[in-house]
Amino acid sequence: MTKKKNKNNKKKHLIKRPKKIQVRRENKINNNQFQDNAAPVIVQHKKYLPKSLRGMEDILPEEGKYWDFVLQKAQDLAEDYGFKKIETPVLEERVLFEKSTGMTTEVVEKQMYQFTDRGQNQVALRPEFTPSMVRAYIEHGMFSLSQPIKLFCFGPLFRYERPQSGRLRQFHQINLEVLGSDKPVSDAQVILFCKTFFEVLGIKVSIQINSLGCSECRKVYRSKLINYFKSKRNRLCPDCQKRLIRNPLRILDCKQEGCKDLITDAPQIVDSLCENCHSHFVKVLECLDEAEVAYELNPFLVRGLDYYTRTVFEILPIRTEVVAIKKDSKLEEKKEGENKEPLPADKQVEVAPVIPSMSALGGGGRYDNLVGELSGRETPALGVAFGVERIIEELKYQNIRISKERAPKIFLAQLGELAMRRSLKLLEDLRKEGFRVAENLAKDSLRAQLEMANKIGVKLTLILGQQEMSDKTIIFRDMSSGNQETIDQEKMIKELRKRI
Ligand code: AMP
Repeated sequence: MTKKKNKNNKKKHLIKRPKKIQVRRENKINNNQFQDNAAPVIVQHKKYLPKSLRGMEDILPEEGKYWDFVLQKAQDLAEDYGFKKIETPVLEERVLFEKSTGMTTEVVEKQMYQFTDRGQNQVALRPEFTPSMVRAYIEHGMFSLSQPIKLFCFGPLFRYERPQSGRLRQFHQINLEVLGSDKPVSDAQVILFCKTFFEVLGIKVSIQINSLGCSECRKVYRSKLINYFKSKRNRLCPDCQKRLIRNPLRILDCKQEGCKDLITDAPQIVDSLCENCHSHFVKVLECLDEAEVAYELNPFLVRGLDYYTRTVFEILPIRTEVVAIKKDSKLEEKKEGENKEPLPADKQVEVAPVIPSMSALGGGGRYDNLVGELSGRETPALGVAFGVERIIEELKYQNIRISKERAPKIFLAQLGELAMRRSLKLLEDLRKEGFRVAENLAKDSLRAQLEMANKIGVKLTLILGQQEMSDKTIIFRDMSSGNQETIDQEKMIKELRKRI
């Protein structure tokens, strides 16, 4: 008895209590609160409440099924289309992004998480995948393999943006790249992948497409744009006024209402395409028609990064929104006091497809000069990236049912110390036999365990108590009828196969 007491006392000392307020006495004379005239200095240790950084979110277990669904579909499809999985580090040399994404882009100029590491290296958390893919392609000499190289990856990216709906500082992308092909059919195949991917997910989308031409086409277009916006300079937002000097194409990306009005009548790049770029674009569109991919030409789609050439595209969700409440003439004709039967809910409204702005689910394009600029070896290429958080938001918004994760059909309930310990091994045996079994080994009460089994919705609960331990049996409880049967442990697996 005394021994037990001592043991408990010992344990008590091991429990650390959080310090809330520490009272320290110093030899300063203050009020007479303390007999020895020492003024109390209260050092209030603020309790540390851990929290995630702004714009960086946890993916909680209840979200897991959405992530699994999207990633599994993407991976299966990428493999079907011949893409090979690759993973690259989250941290890269800063200069990689400066030289590829572009020094004047928002992403590099304002959003990159960059720092000097302990070895004085200038590094950055990747804000996008393409530069890392290109770096890996060059570093591992993939030029020498049969072209094109088709790469697929998934992972977190970091941009110091103003967090808001659909815009995070840490977000995830599914990314595909095709390196070593200038053929229009490659552009069409990547866009066809986009169509199929969203079809498989069940999300209705609009695929918008444009061509940015080559550097020669852009030189011509750039001066046309400057001429057009010069006289309207004062009506542009302050950012666009700067863009007019540094990168006028970027004005076309502006979401400010005033700028958007001016953009509508701006010259279109398709009218400035050189013969080769024009023919490339036409062939891409012909391939898309052949593959029955619906698309919309968007002459002002420029995408925000410096390296894009020729084809660019973006995938936007199409939502169905109520545009009007229908009036039913028959109902209107009825006189006051008459029993008016309301129309069914879906007949009362008129709906129309709406494309919400600022909600692109993915986008991509060609970057024919990037590999050459970084390696000296001309290698045309293109890619696409999908925002996983936005896709999941859209799945929820469009109320798309996703297939459920493999839910357990069996619960193992245990009663007593011996049975609880034996359950550890039993669960392993069941798992190896291919059964997913729910449990709560930390609960002693059988009632609580049965309640849990009920809540999960399992078909069968296995009950292992003292009696069953000594008899080498186990109870099978059918959860819908409540009937119980005692089965020899030896026959358990065979019986489970019959019933599950
Ligand atoms: P980008 O690399 O900017 O072309 O973006 C490709 C896709 O990634 C976008 O269409 C979005 O779906 C997603 N995305 C980009 N930036 C963010 C962000 N800050 N937060 C969440 N998703 C993003």
